[in-house]
Amino acid sequence: GAVIGILGGGQLGRMLAVAAARLGYKAHIYEPAANPPAADVAHALTTASYEDAGALRAFAQSVDVITYEFENIPTSALDLLESLKPIRPGRRALAVSQDRVAEKTFLNDLGLTTAPWASVETAEEMTAAVEKIGAPAILKTTRLGYDGKGQARLREASDAESAFAAMQGAPAILEGFVNFTAEVSVIAARGLDGQVSAYDPGENIHREGILHTTTVPATLRPAQRQDAVLLAARILNALDYVGVMGVELFVTPQGLLVNEIAPRVHNSGHWTQNGCAVDQFEQHIRAVTGWPLGDGSRHSDVVMENLIGDDITRLPDYAREPGTAIHLYGKAEARPGRKMAHINRVKPRS
Ligand code: ATP
Ligand code: MG
Ligand code: MG
Repeated sequence: GAVIGILGGGQLGRMLAVAAARLGYKAHIYEPAANPPAADVAHALTTASYEDAGALRAFAQSVDVITYEFENIPTSALDLLESLKPIRPGRRALAVSQDRVAEKTFLNDLGLTTAPWASVETAEEMTAAVEKIGAPAILKTTRLGYDGKGQARLREASDAESAFAAMQGAPAILEGFVNFTAEVSVIAARGLDGQVSAYDPGENIHREGILHTTTVPATLRPAQRQDAVLLAARILNALDYVGVMGVELFVTPQGLLVNEIAPRVHNSGHWTQNGCAVDQFEQHIRAVTGWPLGDGSRHSDVVMENLIGDDITRLPDYAREPGTAIHLYGKAEARPGRKMAHINRVKPRS
């Protein structure tokens, strides 16, 4: 049978591999870290580094198509892999989502609204950026940030110096602080034939920078719901995208602002596992293998909750709850801030 290569062996890679298996594919996982969550569901596992050209070449030769669970794949590895097998979603989506300045530039060029922003690489640029954007604001490293890491908040302009120092010399972006009424995300898919399908937007609540819950349906007016789906489709089409994408949005009285995009299955899309006939993982496998997209309409109301660190000790209680589906990642050690599992609390659609 055909083999799907998946870069990254975390919980997203694990759930992609399970979905691949359900569609009759084998999953070859490439993950340099030890004991990855995806290992026990993988058909093959490569643990070499992304600098190992021989291992990358052998990996590419063993698979039919390559996809990924994270956007920070080193460019040199991508260059080599791309010369051997199709990578889906493609390079453009990666380039745009790896760098917050490229991302905001792309979104603004598409006519989409973001927080006001300025690029910050030097102390002088920081001063100019604070003059332009004002306070409150958030300074973020342009690359490699996730779960709110690599960010410093400026309550007032005088926080500029300490915020800049917190970046430790890494290129950064200063964003005006958005007074949102809610955060929502759209999980959308685009097939190899250009067909687009979006899941119902979910409403997200974060704790300490990490996603805590996603609730569907989101409290959005019908016009906002349609705006959210249409702007996601615009992003996918502009990138000639193939696969599932997560689009994070701020809801404000002035309309929807795009926070960031993720060129992969997304934590805020985990509710689809118990709210839809075809979840985001199957949808992604369908897209990257050229299948028609599946039915992503929502048949249930769902609240997804991440179990982080010690939250996992409450698992026996969740296991007794009626209507609660449990998704464990197979991680042995529960460190603070580490995503261990999620639960979906499901009710028939209201
Ligand atoms: P992720 O894990 O989603 O990739 P990340 O580290 O890339 O997170 P962001 O999504 O940029 O970080 O920010 C994390 C959270 O911080 C957002 O979901 C939002 O709650 C808040 N936040 C980020 N940027 C802004 C902003 N400009 N104004 C207000 N709040 C913001
Ligand atoms: Mg992010
Ligand atoms: Mg985010």
